[in-house]
Amino acid sequence: MTSAFDDLMTANRAFADSFALAGFDGVAHAGVAVVTCMDSRIDPLRMLGLRPGDAKIFRNPGGRVTQAALEALVLGVHLLGVERILVVPHTRCAMATNTVAELRARVSESSGQDASWQFFGVIEDQQAALREDVRILRSHPLIPDRVAIGGFMYDVDTGLLHEEV
Ligand SMILES: [Zn+2]
Repeated sequence: MTSAFDDLMTANRAFADSFALAGFDGVAHAGVAVVTCMDSRIDPLRMLGLRPGDAKIFRNPGGRVTQAALEALVLGVHLLGVERILVVPHTRCAMATNTVAELRARVSESSGQDASWQFFGVIEDQQAALREDVRILRSHPLIPDRVAIGGFMYDVDTGLLHEEV
């Protein structure tokens, strides 16, 4: 019997053969949390010189500070050793280059179904959205002032982060 996941399960067995992360706690050892986009061009640990165990990573389309991201960050700050939060949207993000109407039309075409009800968190102005997300974090009552919060744009063509806020 074959499954769509066979190659991944084979890779997992090789991973487990040399598994070195056993006994790790769930703390972010570099004290870092990253909110970034789901985009496959982004490698959040390696772009910051981090390794597994170092950071909490929260991803969604666009890399936005959503309610779910806030849930993760509040837990990270209070229970999991997070002292620095990076919000990292990126260049050429689909969420910033399509309108809701365009995304709905593309999904409708792909699915053959009406997608007009589906929420898509498109971003009209990435700089403004990043400033707003950083402002939300800096003013959040459950994220204390000792936590460093920064907004950075990741350039998918150079690999460089640019500090924006
Ligand atoms: Zn993106």
